[in-house]
Order: sequence, then C-alpha cells, then structure tokens
Amino acid sequence: MSNSHSLKIYNSLSGKKEEFVPLEEGHVGMYVCGPTVYSDVHLGNCRTFVSFDIIYRYLRQKGYVVRYVRNITDVGHLTDDGEDRMAKGAKVARLEPMEVAQKYTVGFHELMQIFNTLPPSIEPRATGHIPEQIDMVQDIFSRGYAYERNGSVYFDTIKFAKENPGVYGQLSGRVIEDLLVETRDNLKSQDEKNHPSDFAIWMKARKEDLMVWKSPWSVGFPGWHLECSAMSTKYLGKTFDIHGGGNDLKFPHHENEVAQNVGACGCAPARYWLHTNMLLLNSRKMSKSEGNTISPFELFTGNSPFVSKGYDPMVVKFFMLMAHYRSTLDISDDALLAAEKGYRKIMETNRQLQAIAVNAADFDGSETDTDRKILSLIDDVFAGMDDDFNTAMAIASLNELGSYINKYVHQQIAANEIAPWVIERMKTVFSTVIFDIFGLRDETESGGDSGTMEGLMDLILAMRAKARENKDWAASDMIRDALAAVGIQIKDGKEGTRWEKIDV
Ligand code: AMP
Ligand code: ZN
Repeated sequence: MSNSHSLKIYNSLSGKKEEFVPLEEGHVGMYVCGPTVYSDVHLGNCRTFVSFDIIYRYLRQKGYVVRYVRNITDVGHLTDDGEDRMAKGAKVARLEPMEVAQKYTVGFHELMQIFNTLPPSIEPRATGHIPEQIDMVQDIFSRGYAYERNGSVYFDTIKFAKENPGVYGQLSGRVIEDLLVETRDNLKSQDEKNHPSDFAIWMKARKEDLMVWKSPWSVGFPGWHLECSAMSTKYLGKTFDIHGGGNDLKFPHHENEVAQNVGACGCAPARYWLHTNMLLLNSRKMSKSEGNTISPFELFTGNSPFVSKGYDPMVVKFFMLMAHYRSTLDISDDALLAAEKGYRKIMETNRQLQAIAVNAADFDGSETDTDRKILSLIDDVFAGMDDDFNTAMAIASLNELGSYINKYVHQQIAANEIAPWVIERMKTVFSTVIFDIFGLRDETESGGDSGTMEGLMDLILAMRAKARENKDWAASDMIRDALAAVGIQIKDGKEGTRWEKIDV
C-alpha cells in the first residue's frame, strides 16, 4: 500500500527531522544494537526492540528491501567493576559463558516472538566475529588512532578529536572534557591510558577471564564498542543508512562506534542515527543495574506488585505504540488498563469493519463529504507514520476512522454516505496498519464476542458482590470456584474485583 508522503526521520546526528533518502534507491541497510545476553531482557529492552521492529516493518511496507542487522552481545560488555558481564553471569550460575549466552538468547527470541516481532535479516554474535574485530583494531592502528599498553590496545580519543573536528561528541553533544569521567570500560586499566576518555579496543586477559582469543597484542578479548563497528561494516558496508539503539547508548557506545569506524576507514558509518527513549518505572529508567525492572512475564501473568492483573502481550505492545518512540513512557497499571481498552476497541472496530458487506449496486458513484473526510483520515494515518514513525498519531487517526465505522454499523449515518470502494479501502488500511505494520495480533475473543464476555463477567461479578454484601459466603465461593473450573480467575482488590483467563 503506497502513499504520497515522503518519510521524515529524526536524525540524532543533526538533531533534526530529515527526509529519508537511502544510499541505494529502493534498499535500506539498518543496524540495531541487540541485547547483552547475560540475564533476561526486561520490558525496557523490549520497548526498544519493538520500536525498531515497527520501523523495519514500515520501511518494508513502503517498498524498500531492508537488510536489518541486530547483533547479540555475548562478550566484552563490562560491568562497572571491570568484569565481563557474560563471565560474571556464568560464574554466578556455574555455567560455561556460552551456556549463559545460549540460555538468554533463546529466552530473548521467545519473547520477541511473543511480541510478534519479525526476526532480523542477520543476527550476528560478537564471539563469531573476533577476526573482523582484530582486523579493525589493525586498521585503526595503521591510521594512527590506537596505541598499545601491556598487551591492551586503546583508542586515542584526543588525537582523533583533534584531527577530525566535530566528529567525537556529535551524537551525544558532549565535549571531550566531559568524557573524562564517564567511560564504561576496565577501571583497573585507567592508568594505562594516555587520557581517561580513551577506551579499550582490545583488552589483555587477566587470569580470571573466561572468554579469550589470540591476537597480535595479547591473549585477550575485544572492547564492547568494537563488535558493532566491525559487524555493521561486514554486513552493511563502511557507510550504511540507519543505525539504532536506545538513547542510553548514545554515549559512550555509539560515540565510540563512530570514532572507531571513522578511525578505521576515514568514513562515517550510518547516515541516520535513531534513538528510542526509555521506558520508565516509577518515573525512573527501567534498568537491570539499578534493579528497577519488570519482567514481561510478570506483566503477562499479573504476578507483580506493580499490576492488578495480567495483561495480554498484545496489550503491552499496544501500550508501547500509544507513545511515540522518542518520548519517555512511564508504565503503570492505569496506563495498561487504558491500553487494554484501546486495544480491544481497535480490534473490535476492525472486526466490525471487515464484516461489512456492501452492495455496490445501491450507490450512484458520487463522492460524499463523509467519503472525503474518511479519505483524509486515511491519509493522516500514513502521514503520522511518515512523520518519524509516529505510531501515536497513526492510532489517533485510526480511532477517528473507527468512530465513522461505528456510526455506519449502527446506522447512525446512511448506508449510501460511504462509497463501497471507500469501505474497501478502510478494510485494507485497518488490516495493513494493525497487523502488518504494528505487528499486532487479535487476541480479543475469537468470533467477536468479547463484548458479550465482558458483559457476562460484569453480571457474574455483580452477583458475587451482592452475595458477599449479604454475607452469603457459600454463594460467593461457589461463583469463584465455578469460574476457576472454566479457566477464569478472579482477584479481589482495592478497586473492586478483576478477572483474567488462565490455563486450566
Ligand atoms: P542492553 O542489553 O543493556 O545492551 O540493552 C539492549 C537495548 O535496550 C539497548 O538498545 C538499550 O538502549 C535498550 N534499553 C535499555 N533499557 C531501556 C529502557 N528502560 N527503555 C527502553 N530501552 C532500553
Ligand atoms: Zn552496539
């Protein structure tokens, strides 16, 4: 389904929305930093990957052939105390580091499927690309931006910044003096560096390090930032279209990636840098290291103090889509309840729309005001997506279309006010946007009886509340047990009784 707008993307490099023009007409190369697989991904990580899935889907929808590369970080990402996250995870669980990586990679894939995201075209692992990373260190060396100390190799940020003015700091807006403080590599090796903002591109192993490889400098392992530079170059070329990740990666990870690529080949890697904003919990960034996380499964089952009940993964995904990817998003039970309503409504509207059977013979072919309004709303849906993938705007326009569909179905507007071809176009637009672009599934009641189910449950819960008011505990328990027997669990809480379906 094509539309007439040009796609605008907010580019972190320029700090502006720019028209998207790929390097090669009709083709897009996109690299997104993937998860570090040393523990379960949390819901914040999911938000970033869901956002890029929608970007991927939308680019495809616009007719581009997209090569989407999303890596798996399975080595070299250090904790603040200088220990490799993978190795640390392995020691804690007494496993081989590769066992840890495999376990959490499988878990990540399962979750991505639950959220109905598409697999990337290539999913390279850092450990599978050590020779490429060693080559890149050599290239950086040969262009004079690296130095060796005791078997470790460091990137010379000061020399690089001097010789490439405006490059280091362009993404994060930081100046070199600020970089003195925040570096996320081995603190114990600070004294080996010429300057605190220099960062390791190869690290000599200590005897406790578990994942090590031979290199011209020492037995050791690559720095965390290097893998993305080496793998994006390998699969997308030295310069490619889009690089993405969460905005917490702008510094130091992405800043250092740019420096490495420019340092190795003299050319900038991505032309458009896209950064998703953070998912917040209690107004703070959801983060593994801060212990401020919620696991997606806790949300699905309702087994969390943050939620009053379980939410379907599609509701959680819809909650994410209700905000633009560059806005922060605060998760709360109320926001999820609102998303659940919104999700059910849009699915219900779609079912009603798809069920409309029109008789073309009844129409005289003239375009009505309602037709024109509907066509302009359809245009707004795509205008929203073309405006830096604004799913929130697209949903608002779909909802406005929904009110016409509702009125039409309930005969509040005359049947001949909407032309058959306009109805057909709405059918295509709804299913394309909600299923193909948003990647939602219809998990509301099959057969379109969700409204009936809700109504019946309201009635049953009202009867139970009445029984409890009359202290008729036997009747109240009987209702609860009978519901449990058919797979419906009820939970009494401060705000009344809620219900959810469970597996029996
Ligand atoms: P990590 O495994 O920590 O490297 O994170 C994987 C991806 O999730 C990166 O792109 C991060 O920027 C992103 N991310 C981490 N925390 C959040 C959050 N709270 N909200 C959105 N994205 C996040
Ligand atoms: Zn990366």
